[in-house]
Amino acid sequence: MESETIERIEQLKPKNAVRNLDALGRLFMDNREMSIWERDTSTLPKGARKWRKNALEFARKEIRPIAAKADLNPDDFDTKPLRNAAIRRGLLSLLLPFPLGKASITSSVKSLSLQVVLAAEELTTECGGLALVLLAPYLGIAPLLLSGHLPTYLRHFIPFCFKLTWFDNPACFSYAITEPGAGSDVEETIGGATARLVTTARPVKGGYVLNGRKCFISNGAIADKVTVYAKLEGEGIESWTCFIVEKSMKGFSVGRHERKMGQRASDASELIFEDVFVPNRNIVGKLRSGWANNRNVLNYSRPSVGAMSIGHGRGAFERALEFCRRTKLGNKRLIDYHDVQMELADMMISLSAARAMVWKSCMQFRCNQGSSAAVKVFASDTAVKVSNQAMELMGDHGYVHANGVERSWRDARLTQIYEGTNQINRLALIESQWDVELDRSVLGYG
Ligand SMILES: Cc1cc2nc3c(=O)[nH]c(=O)nc-3n(C[C@H](O)[C@H](O)[C@H](O)COP(=O)(O)OP(=O)(O)OC[C@H]3O[C@@H](n4cnc5c(N)ncnc54)[C@H](O)[C@@H]3O)c2cc1C
Repeated sequence: MESETIERIEQLKPKNAVRNLDALGRLFMDNREMSIWERDTSTLPKGARKWRKNALEFARKEIRPIAAKADLNPDDFDTKPLRNAAIRRGLLSLLLPFPLGKASITSSVKSLSLQVVLAAEELTTECGGLALVLLAPYLGIAPLLLSGHLPTYLRHFIPFCFKLTWFDNPACFSYAITEPGAGSDVEETIGGATARLVTTARPVKGGYVLNGRKCFISNGAIADKVTVYAKLEGEGIESWTCFIVEKSMKGFSVGRHERKMGQRASDASELIFEDVFVPNRNIVGKLRSGWANNRNVLNYSRPSVGAMSIGHGRGAFERALEFCRRTKLGNKRLIDYHDVQMELADMMISLSAARAMVWKSCMQFRCNQGSSAAVKVFASDTAVKVSNQAMELMGDHGYVHANGVERSWRDARLTQIYEGTNQINRLALIESQWDVELDRSVLGYG
């Protein structure tokens, strides 16, 4: 290119051309040179910004160096040091502000889940499995928080949060709804009505005796406590009650661990209950409140899965970007080709759209079924698409283990399945709007 043209291009760039505007005109033009990460972060409530930065630093320093090893050899990998490091950093105490947690109070007043959601994206950018090890405990403890039940708060939730915040103790809750014959059915109303459940609670003096099985439980093998949903003997899913089962309880054991395609550093295990006595004090909320509680837990957890999805896609995008910057095709870098730039732009647009949806869904105090389900579907589909695009850009380099992009793709695939498959989430969106605007005309057409 001639030097005259290069000079003209330089002048025409908005950041230089802006000098020709009046002072007020310059004020209207946002010309700050910032990464998308910095720009997005600057729109967050102040306290929440800190947690996004904190989680990013933690992910790069603590997760990046161990991610490949944890993914390749999950059976031999001890996650305890990472969990301890996360506790010290406050990343497992983001549900409540001081003194029961480390969340920012200004941000918590606006949204219960925003700070967890922000951490979820950052942690996942480096490794889905290790991120799940750190994030699944939030899902495990959510039934306690969302029960709204004072005795549950006083006996379990507050002491647990307090210990996790002030002591070096990586205590871990898991969440168990899925059963061998009931996966989608326990996440959807019509399926729920005909679900074939095996986990049953029989009333005895001072508590209940649990029998049955749960499967695919994330962190099931390392959890000290599990929030387990069981029907009461002789009744159906409408009697579902949430019980806190402790690892030390007689009759409780961990069965098979699944060999997974992605998010491999976190175990997905079968849990077995054989005459496990659970005292009344370990009932979460009221008897028979489990179905409503479970549905609301999913409303809060789906935006986090959306955020994890974005993390998978962003991790793949960042690695592909780095590759395009340093790889030459002919005498040009890959990133200097227009079609590569368009592919990168498309990935950035998809991730930004998904992030906007995720953040919007939890910038209100309460999470809502329709928007949480929509976010989960869109973000997880986006993650699979973007990590696939990253592999396309990198060719054989994307396919090999060392670059971490194929890991993002494998990890992302799971976000389309758990917390309800994307089909079930689409049905959740329809259900939430059915009586309001789908089954009757509200649009005023004849
Ligand atoms: C790695 C991993 C970790 C997990 N972690 C946890 C956990 O921590 N806790 C927990 O409780 N569960 C967990 N799960 C379970 C997970 O949420 C379920 O696997 C998931 O909800 C799907 O259930 P399923 O596998 O039984 O599929 P099924 O219900 O058997 O569904 C099979 C197919 O049928 C479709 N389908 C089902 N019903 C309908 C319908 N009405 N309309 C249209 N299509 C339908 C589904 O979309 C799917 O494509 C985990 C699963 C995995 C794989």
